[in-house]
Amino acid sequence: MPVLVMKFGGTSVATLDRIKRAAKRVGVEVAKGYDVIVIVSAMSGKTNELVGWVNETSKFYDAREYDAVVSSGENVTAGLMALTLQEMDVPARSWQGWQVPLKTNSAHSQARIEEIPTDNISAKFAEGMKVAVVAGFQGISPEGRITTLGRGGSDTTAVAFAAAFGAERCDIYTDVDGVYTTDPRITDKARKLDKIAFEEMLELASLGAKVLQTRSVELAMRFGVRLRVLSSFEEQSDEAGTLVCAEEEIMENRPVSGIAYSRDEAKMTLISVADRPGIAAAIFGPLAEAGINVDMIIQNIAEEGRTDMTFSCPVDQVARAEKALNAAKDSGDINFHDLVADTNVAKVSAVGIGMRSQSGVAAQMFKTLSDEGVNIKVIATSEIKISVLIDRKYMELAVQALHDAFELEKA
Ligand code: ADP
Ligand code: ASP
Ligand code: MG
Repeated sequence: MPVLVMKFGGTSVATLDRIKRAAKRVGVEVAKGYDVIVIVSAMSGKTNELVGWVNETSKFYDAREYDAVVSSGENVTAGLMALTLQEMDVPARSWQGWQVPLKTNSAHSQARIEEIPTDNISAKFAEGMKVAVVAGFQGISPEGRITTLGRGGSDTTAVAFAAAFGAERCDIYTDVDGVYTTDPRITDKARKLDKIAFEEMLELASLGAKVLQTRSVELAMRFGVRLRVLSSFEEQSDEAGTLVCAEEEIMENRPVSGIAYSRDEAKMTLISVADRPGIAAAIFGPLAEAGINVDMIIQNIAEEGRTDMTFSCPVDQVARAEKALNAAKDSGDINFHDLVADTNVAKVSAVGIGMRSQSGVAAQMFKTLSDEGVNIKVIATSEIKISVLIDRKYMELAVQALHDAFELEKA
């Protein structure tokens, strides 16, 4: 039997009614003759609540216990989805990550999938089970402890299962009907794309478009998984939604395909560090060890042998970053006069593979922001993206202005 992977995100399983509606979609695919692997998220809001409880209990928490707590939301929806399918006379069984077992490394709260043995689930399919419902987002470490795959990780569970089982397609059911030129919540001019290239989706995801977890796009690209994003709230045809595919399959060629944003950024500046060989390693080594996701970096021109070093990171990692840098200062590895955190910044990025061959995109982006009176604090570029760090209060304005400037509402 051909295998199909169907993933339902938090809003698609938020209530028993929605679980029923999702189960009906699964029933339609079973009727077509597929063996279906359903990946479920926790009910919407649940994981946030669990994360909140962990933070309230322990500021510098043990990540193994964080995973024990935050993985639990998916256990509930997996069981409920299997029960709902059984009520519809569809033979179904639920699986938690460790039962599959979905094997990961030991990087708790950010674990990477290492292997998904298919024998357990395949044996059940051979016995007549039609649907394997798997709790997304979670796995098991070599030490036998529960791990989680980072926020939004159920997308990655889904793609990894599609790759492991050679699924015909991996359908990601969510609360929007595809990938848009920008988050449709920010502007109603956002336009749904029929197709988007893996590379562009990878950049958009890593720059904040949370419609797909970055790692899921990476895996789909590596294993050639046909990945589709579509709505669980509408009747769907086989052509619905957005297909994430190889660049060659796409006709459109414009410099910018989409605008992404990331609200929860922070800018940290080490004031007056010695300008000497090895200083960057002395600063960013301890940050890496503390698990800080450093993004943009600026080192100012030195004056009298001293310089300022600025970097950005997710706002919820500021306390950890401060702790790591102050420890490095106390042990004499680095010396700075002050450490200043600006927790009111956001990152806005323009992405497009067309940038490779067209110049002037950065200039147009900076001009647009300047016309709106938005001050740029940090800039970073790559071959297919330009990112700026700005005051958070201008974020939506900046996204809307750039969406207009690059005429993204026009097909
Ligand atoms: P799920 O719970 O189904 O995993 P998410 O909330 O993780 O859903 O992702 C879907 C959300 O992603 C949408 O509601 C939308 O607000 C947001 N989003 C951000 N950027 C985009 C984009 N470019 N296209 C579509 N949705 C986007
Ligand atoms: N429930 C997890 C989260 O909210 C995983 C997911 O939904 O993809 O991050
Ligand atoms: Mg998600």
